Amino acid sequence: MSARQHSLDGNLTHRLASDPGVWLSCDDCFRLLDIYVDAAIRGETVEDFTAMASHLETCQACREEAQTLVQLSAADSGVDERSVFERLGLRSV
Ligand SMILES: [Zn+2]
Repeated sequence: MSARQHSLDGNLTHRLASDPGVWLSCDDCFRLLDIYVDAAIRGETVEDFTAMASHLETCQACREEAQTLVQLSAADSGVDERSVFERLGLRSV
Protein backbone atom coordinates (compact mmCIF):
# COMPACT_ATOMS: atom_id res chain seq x y z
CA MET A 1 0.00 0.00 0.00
CA SER A 2 1.26 3.41 -0.83
CA ALA A 3 2.24 5.56 2.10
CA ARG A 4 2.01 8.67 0.03
CA GLN A 5 -1.49 9.94 -0.21
CA HIS A 6 -2.22 13.36 -1.48
CA SER A 7 -5.44 15.12 -0.92
CA LEU A 8 -5.50 17.26 -4.00
CA ASP A 9 -7.11 20.58 -3.47
CA GLY A 10 -8.68 20.93 -6.86
CA ASN A 11 -10.16 24.33 -6.19
CA LEU A 12 -6.93 25.87 -5.10
CA THR A 13 -4.88 24.43 -7.94
CA HIS A 14 -7.53 25.53 -10.39
CA ARG A 15 -7.56 29.02 -8.93
CA LEU A 16 -3.79 29.15 -9.26
CA ALA A 17 -3.81 28.01 -12.84
CA SER A 18 -6.53 30.40 -13.87
CA ASP A 19 -5.30 33.44 -11.98
CA PRO A 20 -1.55 33.98 -12.08
CA GLY A 21 -1.96 37.16 -10.10
CA VAL A 22 -3.22 35.38 -7.02
CA TRP A 23 -1.07 35.97 -3.98
CA LEU A 24 -0.19 32.96 -1.87
CA SER A 25 0.15 33.00 1.86
CA CYS A 26 2.78 30.77 3.43
CA ASP A 27 -0.05 28.48 4.56
CA ASP A 28 -1.28 28.12 0.98
CA CYS A 29 2.27 27.57 -0.13
CA PHE A 30 2.84 24.78 2.38
CA ARG A 31 -0.42 23.12 1.39
CA LEU A 32 0.57 23.12 -2.27
CA LEU A 33 4.22 22.33 -1.91
CA ASP A 34 3.69 18.57 -2.00
CA ILE A 35 1.66 18.77 -5.18
CA TYR A 36 4.06 21.22 -6.76
CA VAL A 37 7.21 19.23 -6.05
CA ASP A 38 5.49 15.96 -6.90
CA ALA A 39 4.45 17.26 -10.30
CA ALA A 40 8.00 18.38 -11.02
CA ILE A 41 9.37 14.99 -10.00
CA ARG A 42 6.94 13.24 -12.31
CA GLY A 43 8.20 15.53 -15.06
CA GLU A 44 4.96 17.42 -15.40
CA THR A 45 4.93 21.05 -16.30
CA VAL A 46 4.71 23.42 -13.37
CA GLU A 47 4.39 26.55 -15.46
CA ASP A 48 0.83 26.99 -14.31
CA PHE A 49 1.97 27.42 -10.75
CA THR A 50 3.08 30.99 -11.26
CA ALA A 51 1.97 32.03 -7.81
CA MET A 52 4.01 29.26 -6.23
CA ALA A 53 7.10 30.23 -8.16
CA SER A 54 6.86 33.87 -7.25
CA HIS A 55 6.15 33.06 -3.62
CA LEU A 56 9.19 30.79 -3.45
CA GLU A 57 11.24 33.50 -5.06
CA THR A 58 10.43 35.99 -2.36
CA CYS A 59 9.92 33.81 0.73
CA GLN A 60 13.05 32.22 2.10
CA ALA A 61 11.26 30.03 4.63
CA CYS A 62 9.12 28.37 1.98
CA ARG A 63 12.02 28.16 -0.43
CA GLU A 64 14.10 26.25 2.09
CA GLU A 65 11.14 24.00 2.76
CA ALA A 66 10.78 23.39 -0.96
CA GLN A 67 14.48 22.63 -1.37
CA THR A 68 14.33 20.08 1.44
CA LEU A 69 11.21 18.51 0.01
CA VAL A 70 12.76 18.26 -3.46
CA GLN A 71 15.82 16.52 -2.05
CA LEU A 72 13.76 14.06 -0.02
CA SER A 73 11.22 13.33 -2.75
CA ALA A 74 13.81 13.08 -5.50
CA ALA A 75 15.85 10.59 -3.50
CA ASP A 76 12.63 8.75 -2.70
CA SER A 77 11.67 8.50 -6.37
CA GLY A 78 15.16 7.84 -7.70
CA VAL A 79 15.10 11.06 -9.70
CA ASP A 80 18.05 13.38 -10.17
CA GLU A 81 17.28 16.28 -7.87
CA ARG A 82 19.13 18.71 -10.10
CA SER A 83 16.63 18.26 -12.90
CA VAL A 84 13.81 18.87 -10.44
CA PHE A 85 15.44 22.02 -9.10
CA GLU A 86 15.89 23.19 -12.65
CA ARG A 87 12.29 22.51 -13.54
CA LEU A 88 11.12 24.46 -10.52
CA GLY A 89 13.57 27.26 -11.11
CA LEU A 90 15.08 26.62 -7.71
CA ARG A 91 18.71 26.52 -6.85
CA SER A 92 19.95 23.33 -5.27
CA VAL A 93 21.37 23.70 -1.79
ZN1 LIG B 1 6.23 31.59 2.41
